[in-house]
Amino acid sequence: MAQLSDDCFAFGGSLLGIDAARRMIFERVTPVAGIERVPLRQALGRTLAEDIVAPIAVPGYDNSAVDGYAVRFDDLRADRPTTLRCIDRIAAGHDPSARLTQGVAARIFTGAILPEGADVVIMQEDCERDGDRVTIRPGIRRGANTRRAGEDVALGSTVLMAGRRLGPADLGLLAALGFVEVPVRRKLLVALLSTGDEVREPGAPLQRGQIHDANRYILAGLLERLGVEVSDHGIVRDDEARLGDALREAAAESDLIITSGGVSTGEEDHVRTAIANDGSLYFWRLAIKPGRPVAMGQIGSTPLAGLPGNPVAALLTFALVARPMIEALSATTPHVAKRFRVVADFPYKKRAGRREYVRVSLDPSAGLAKARRYHKEGAGMLTSLTETDGLVELPEETTKLEPGAEVDFLPYSELI
Ligand code: AMP
Ligand code: MG
Repeated sequence: MAQLSDDCFAFGGSLLGIDAARRMIFERVTPVAGIERVPLRQALGRTLAEDIVAPIAVPGYDNSAVDGYAVRFDDLRADRPTTLRCIDRIAAGHDPSARLTQGVAARIFTGAILPEGADVVIMQEDCERDGDRVTIRPGIRRGANTRRAGEDVALGSTVLMAGRRLGPADLGLLAALGFVEVPVRRKLLVALLSTGDEVREPGAPLQRGQIHDANRYILAGLLERLGVEVSDHGIVRDDEARLGDALREAAAESDLIITSGGVSTGEEDHVRTAIANDGSLYFWRLAIKPGRPVAMGQIGSTPLAGLPGNPVAALLTFALVARPMIEALSATTPHVAKRFRVVADFPYKKRAGRREYVRVSLDPSAGLAKARRYHKEGAGMLTSLTETDGLVELPEETTKLEPGAEVDFLPYSELI
């Protein structure tokens, strides 16, 4: 008797590996986004278009790292307390009035300019003040509690490289260097659409057999976090002609098209046909689970990522396929997700030759964190995303996993 398969990934044929797909993306997709200058406050998440060279040093002057007393190290006794006379009082933002001469200390506050002659600051907690005298305990090293001019950023050094996606700390650094605006790549315009006769907008009443569109909300959120502009093309029916129209329209106005659903081999899956009709298809199956049916191609000259309909697969393939395409289009340095070693507390069997991702929660209570597999595994399970911390990544060659084995863990914050 013929054995029917319950493994929807069982059918043969060659599947493209993830690394090969990634190489193909960076080979075929080239930057489209020109350069503009934007105020710092609008630069978060944008891609830096030029290297940034420091026009000033940070800090610009030697200063104190603490509230205390600035002294000359050579005035201090190494073996017993030293009492010095206190002159001057130097607050942040004010210039010291006098040079520190031998045998005197200056009251100083965090961030204030170190007076000439001083080469160490004693924390106020380590001193005893009595009138205009201050007594300092021994044991401090030269240079302690001081910050030297240029120790953070040296004048003329390259602090940020073109291609960097600017984060909050980057903006702080640019501000500290005095930049008012910054050269960035133009924002990409990404057309986003869902496919499926069963897919309805949230808020629309559901007939039997219908579902609300979850993917457009996941994908729009991911796109916005990547600093692109989303052009929402709604939901398109499973109809070759309508899908063709929608994709041509999206291609005409955007830098990239992202679809979900309709990329499998069913008769109602029209995305591949539409790509073949109006452009070219580079790949449509990857050696991964979940997310095997995922297409990359172009409509006219606009690249397209055709993600699978199952939400978990859509999210994963966004990270593996759509995100590199966005990076290539915007000349952004590709993000390489960091993996962390954890211990699997579940057994697992898989086929060789494909990379698999298992949704897990981490229990960091003792030693190496333990990855606990989520109890529902369908690629359509939205709660399997909201209730977990990330994915265990099982490489192509693995076929079997025993509890207690060390595996690679990818937190969602690294993946997407
Ligand atoms: P497909 O890739 O079109 O065969 O869809 C695979 C599964 O994902 C089906 O169960 C669909 O109903 C579901 N699906 C497709 N599009 C969406 C969507 N936008 N939101 C939520 N589920 C979807
Ligand atoms: Mg469908």
